[in-house]
Amino acid sequence: MNDTNIKQGRSNFWGRLSLWKKILIGMVLGIVAGVILGPDAEILKPIGTLFINAIKMLIVPLVFFSLIVGVTSMKDIRKMGRIAIKTVTLYLGTTAVAITIGLGLGFLFEPGKGLNMVVTDVASASEEAPTFIETLLNLVPQNPVGALAAGDILQIIVFALSLGVALVLCGEKAKPAIQLFESLAEAMYKLTELVMKLAPYGVFGLMAWVAGKYGLDVLVPLIKVIALVYIGCLIHVLVFCTSLLSILGRLNPMRYLKGIINPAVIAFTTTSSSGTLPATIKAAREDLGVSEGVSSFVLPVGATINMDGTALYQGVCALFIAQAFGIDLAFSDYILIIMTSTLASIGTAGVPGAGLIMLSLVLTTVGLPLEGLAIVAGIDRILDMARTSVNVCGDLMVSVLVGKSEKELDESIYNYSGQGSIINKIL
Ligand code: ASP
Repeated sequence: MNDTNIKQGRSNFWGRLSLWKKILIGMVLGIVAGVILGPDAEILKPIGTLFINAIKMLIVPLVFFSLIVGVTSMKDIRKMGRIAIKTVTLYLGTTAVAITIGLGLGFLFEPGKGLNMVVTDVASASEEAPTFIETLLNLVPQNPVGALAAGDILQIIVFALSLGVALVLCGEKAKPAIQLFESLAEAMYKLTELVMKLAPYGVFGLMAWVAGKYGLDVLVPLIKVIALVYIGCLIHVLVFCTSLLSILGRLNPMRYLKGIINPAVIAFTTTSSSGTLPATIKAAREDLGVSEGVSSFVLPVGATINMDGTALYQGVCALFIAQAFGIDLAFSDYILIIMTSTLASIGTAGVPGAGLIMLSLVLTTVGLPLEGLAIVAGIDRILDMARTSVNVCGDLMVSVLVGKSEKELDESIYNYSGQGSIINKIL
């Protein structure tokens, strides 16, 4: 074979692979590169940063336009309200289950027992978590343009929903504006598709950096916490989410597991559910068959308020810290942790490390020492990868269930065994 043939063979092989396979390859190669290069793997980080920047560029316009189109495409405002109630109920319920799994694992396996904790710098706890009332009041933006500029997703959601409802109520007069938003939303979906082509390379750069930075040794003392959070995350997705889909949705959960791979891997490497949102929306529509109307409402809301993985992690960590400091918790403390964590997840932004800050809220409420945060902070990135992935998988599960119950789930797409080949039909 001459050089050109070899090159063509390679590019055909790579070109033929579906996106999720490329992303997985990027991830594995990234870990290998990180372990080999050690801290020098930092030089590969810019590739990851470029991908994250590109994906962040999409978030505000994508959420804004697709949410408006989501509302105007429903036309029936009552239906909208019904979907909102179902979504929020499912989000809060699944979050409470997730934290119970975390607490159960922490209780059974006692990760903090006998640990010699060295109390060090607690600077990571200094950022104040907002109170619940503050979170609620902040939902309404005083200046929508400011909210867009600051990328405040909850405020953008509230404004986009209100504008969408107003456009529907205006009837004929608002038609041109609705059409404009529709074509802008369409352009954002296209741009998302283009940016996603960078994912395998970005994931490679990010994984190399994480593996190089943490190595394997640093993890040993905290390996139990890491193992419990990862096991809990697997139980939540593989047992709880799939059971709910089978029982409530009467759907084949294997299809769900296949459809969530792309966003799950991207969430795992970027540790940001807001950052993963474009990929989450794409997967919901193209691989799981959720309608535009439902996915563009349920998913942006979920990326901001539904944090199953974060809640689960808070359960494990709260118990870990209590055990490490030799503090016994009463049954009422467990209930308090479940309630605070569920509510805290509403206020947790879908960005890297946000869960650690919210953990301070949970610890304070239950009266556990904030010093514990410093220890968890050291391995937070590794925990963040699993919990963010579960946050996104939980959102997708709810979008499928709400879609199914509203007859907004295209089961021919959901049950389709291939992936990505229907892109043109949808976009
Ligand atoms: N990184 C998580 C997310 O984006 C939030 C967290 O830190 O728990 O979903």
